[in-house]
Amino acid sequence: MVSGGRADGQSLILYSAPVHRLLLRGRNPGSAGPAVFLDRDGVVNVDRGHVHRTQDFEFMPAALAACRQLAGAGFALVVVTNQAGIARGRYGIEDFVRLSEWMAARFAQAGAPLSGIYFCPHHPCGSVAELSARCSCRKPEPGMILTAAEDLRLDLARSALVGDKWSDIAAGRRAGVGRCLLLRAPGSAESAQDLAAADTVVADQVITGLADATGYLLARRAGEMQAP
Ligand SMILES: [Mg+2]
Ligand SMILES: [Zn+2]
Repeated sequence: MVSGGRADGQSLILYSAPVHRLLLRGRNPGSAGPAVFLDRDGVVNVDRGHVHRTQDFEFMPAALAACRQLAGAGFALVVVTNQAGIARGRYGIEDFVRLSEWMAARFAQAGAPLSGIYFCPHHPCGSVAELSARCSCRKPEPGMILTAAEDLRLDLARSALVGDKWSDIAAGRRAGVGRCLLLRAPGSAESAQDLAAADTVVADQVITGLADATGYLLARRAGEMQAP
C-alpha cells in the first residue's frame, strides 16, 4: 500500500504487489459474480498515446452510459491497462494515480462505479531501471485479470473483456475470461505485427464500441436466462 486518494467521496488505495492496482477502501466483495474487464486506452478513452493528464483524456462516445448499463446488469467494472509509459519515463505512477482518481470519479458520477483499476507500469525495454523487466502483468500475460479475480471474487467464466488489441484478447483467453470482445472502431489501425498475431487469438466477437459490447453481452445474458 502506498497512498490514498479520493474518487467521488470514496478512497482509492494503491497496492503494488503482486500487481499494481487501485482499489476502493472498504470494498466488500460479495459472492462470486461476473465482471467486464475494460482495457483503457482505445476502449474507455480515445487513445492518443501515453495519456496521463485529464486535459488529454477524452471518453469514447457513449462509454459511460454503456458502463452504467453493465453495472445495472450486475457486472463489476474493472479496468486493466498496460502503462509502459511509466517504465519509459514518460510519466510517473503518481500521474497515473491522479488521472485514475479523476476517471474513477467520472465513472461513479455516471452510475457506473469501478471496482478496481489494474495497471502494468513495466516494459522489458524501459528506461526506469526498477520497472524494466519482464513481468506477469503486462498483457498478453494474465496477471492483472487473475489478481482481480482473487481480490474481487470474480467468476471469470461468466465475465467478459473488451480490448482493442490482440494482447488484450490474449490476456483474457489465458485468464479464462468467458467472452473476449475486440473493439474495432472505424478508422482504428493496429500494426501489421499485431494483426498477424491476432490470427492466432480469435476474439469471440468484434464490436464497434462499448455500447455495442453492452448490447451483445446483455442479449447473450437474456438468451442464457431463457435457455432450459
Ligand atoms: Mg487499448
Ligand atoms: Zn507488469
